[in-house]
Amino acid sequence: MQGDRGETRMGNRSVLVLAVLALAMSLSAQTGSEPKAAVASMDIAGGCAALQAAATIDPSAARGFDVASLDRSVKPCDDFFQFAGGSWLKANPIPAAYARWGNFDLLRAHNEDVLHEILETAAKNQNAEPGSNEQKIGDFYTSCMNTDAIESAGLKPLEPEFERIAAINNVEELQAEITHLQMEGVNSGFVFRSQQDYKNSTKVIGGAVQGGLGLPDRDYYTKTDEKSVKLREAYVAHVAKMLSLAGDDAGSVDAEAKTVMALETKLAEASLTRVERRNPDNVYHVMSVADLKTATPSLSWERYFHQIGFPAIDSINVAEPAFFKAYSGMMTETPYADWKVYLRWQLVHSSADGLPSAFVDEDFNFYGKTLSGTQELLPRWKRCARATDAELGEALGQVYVKKAFPPESKARALEMVHNLIAALRDDLATLDWMGPETRKQAQVKLGAIALKIGYPDHWRDYSAYKVVRTSYAENVEKGDEFEFHRVAAKIGKPVDRTEWGMTPPTVNAYYSPSMNEIVFPAGILQPPFYDAKRDDALNYGGMGAVIGHEMTHGFDDQGAKFDAQGNLKNWWTPEDLKNFQARSQCVIDQFDGYEVEPGLHENGKLVVGESIADLGGVTIAHAAFEKTLAGKPAPPEIDGFSAEQRFFLGFAQIWFGSARPEEQRVRVATDPHPLQRFRANGSLSNMPSFSKAFGCSAGSAMVRPEKTQCRIW
Ligand SMILES: [Zn+2]
Repeated sequence: MQGDRGETRMGNRSVLVLAVLALAMSLSAQTGSEPKAAVASMDIAGGCAALQAAATIDPSAARGFDVASLDRSVKPCDDFFQFAGGSWLKANPIPAAYARWGNFDLLRAHNEDVLHEILETAAKNQNAEPGSNEQKIGDFYTSCMNTDAIESAGLKPLEPEFERIAAINNVEELQAEITHLQMEGVNSGFVFRSQQDYKNSTKVIGGAVQGGLGLPDRDYYTKTDEKSVKLREAYVAHVAKMLSLAGDDAGSVDAEAKTVMALETKLAEASLTRVERRNPDNVYHVMSVADLKTATPSLSWERYFHQIGFPAIDSINVAEPAFFKAYSGMMTETPYADWKVYLRWQLVHSSADGLPSAFVDEDFNFYGKTLSGTQELLPRWKRCARATDAELGEALGQVYVKKAFPPESKARALEMVHNLIAALRDDLATLDWMGPETRKQAQVKLGAIALKIGYPDHWRDYSAYKVVRTSYAENVEKGDEFEFHRVAAKIGKPVDRTEWGMTPPTVNAYYSPSMNEIVFPAGILQPPFYDAKRDDALNYGGMGAVIGHEMTHGFDDQGAKFDAQGNLKNWWTPEDLKNFQARSQCVIDQFDGYEVEPGLHENGKLVVGESIADLGGVTIAHAAFEKTLAGKPAPPEIDGFSAEQRFFLGFAQIWFGSARPEEQRVRVATDPHPLQRFRANGSLSNMPSFSKAFGCSAGSAMVRPEKTQCRIW
């Protein structure tokens, strides 16, 4: 989820740790170099979105639909996003500390205000029982806020690691240090974690995934346009600056930075693209230890498993064999001196958030300003609240839900989910393009979708994670070690179906194809997505469309390859599959056509899954809403809009927002979610029910010509 590296840098190591949670096929929004949370899932928000500035946000401000958001100078049939939210956009410019700003971000900011109170209270309590969750979150947050201690510690926390890197003298020592850094959450070239076996979803296996880049994507290393070349120059200058801050000789840092660039470019060239990684078959290659010996002769997996403490692992999924082959080759062909510079850079880079302000500022200078266009750092308390959420999310989340998630919210959300499932069931029964055999399988899959709402029934046990009040660097390092071990320890054990891939305050949701489950954290079950005090039209257009979106992921370009049990297994007849692929192609073509800025278009093949889910989600939500009206007199107009029209206004409202031009470029390159204005208009321009509600005639911009109208679910 999301891509605000410039904003979310606090706890950068934890970003890697989160990557470890999930599987390789998935795709949440990310602009960091590594997959972030919920890699096994598809999320709605585009990840942990950006956040807001300082003021306390009242989510009830978004209650209902505020007609002051409208821009009546634009016709709904010309540009519905602008019509519905033009005045909102004008009144809500992007705050200086954010790369993007919208309703997701406003709600996240509200949730962070709640976390702030919780953390300040916990920090003041010096009498919490040692080892309790309250002690941990209070001490973690305190250590993060204690900038005096961080300044006076300087680089000391990294010194043992610098010494280990400096001592590398042969390939065994190189591998040992790469592994050691990974266990502490440092990006040293690839990611190792556990995953469900795509073809046997009851099994947890190990998984190795490409990584090791400091820029947001492999393509940043290979593109030759002027902006990309300039960005690489800025990146090299940033690497040099960070190495110089870390104590390297001023006369050598420029050459060192070029060495880092050359090494990362080799990794990038060996990496699969994001579009290639969307196909689960491309990233599924289970190999035994014997296979691995041949595949990566210089990278010994036996030694690796031994060192991480799980010597019994006998096979893993190597997501990208060509990448690992290249990596293994580089371990012997690239001079150790180059590896040492690279590992030192990755160590400093991954640790920047917990280091003195000179590191934090330079890190922001590149990742926040240059890359995303953000003007200033988030307030420290926000960075520390996010870091606590990243390391101790379920300890913090337990207090959060007590404070902010009344049991009624769960009951209401549940009711809506059941109505959406019923609507999708009806839709599957009547779809004209699907034959009876496939239809039956689709219905079985729908019937098997598991549901999680609000927060986990079983909370994570942090007892093995010791948190101190005095050292933030130590807390992050230990937290990342705890997480690495927790995730690796799942290998070979039965799948834990109670586990969550997002923390409770998260403003997002996901579908996991291996679990065949939809998950809605407490953080999103609030206005403007859902509010019990407003009319059904807005709630179905908002939260209903979100629920429909996640359900539809079970039937998007990736989800459709997994069966009811979460196994990668075809359940389509050849003819129905062909039909489905043609319909997916319609969505690809549609989004390829959206121009972000002159010369830059959305990448249809990257955003196809999210766009199918958006279209399917709002279609199913609309059908469910219609069912609530059946047999009743039409609800009265509110503010001059019919209930039908308000449904679509409610949908548009959740996408209100904008992003800085720099951030838009990062997202178009890395985020499987289209930009928000295209998410709103893209879906609705395919829907006859929308054009009917607003009386749009054929030929208006919001009505795609019948031949190119996409409809899947
Ligand atoms: Zn999604």
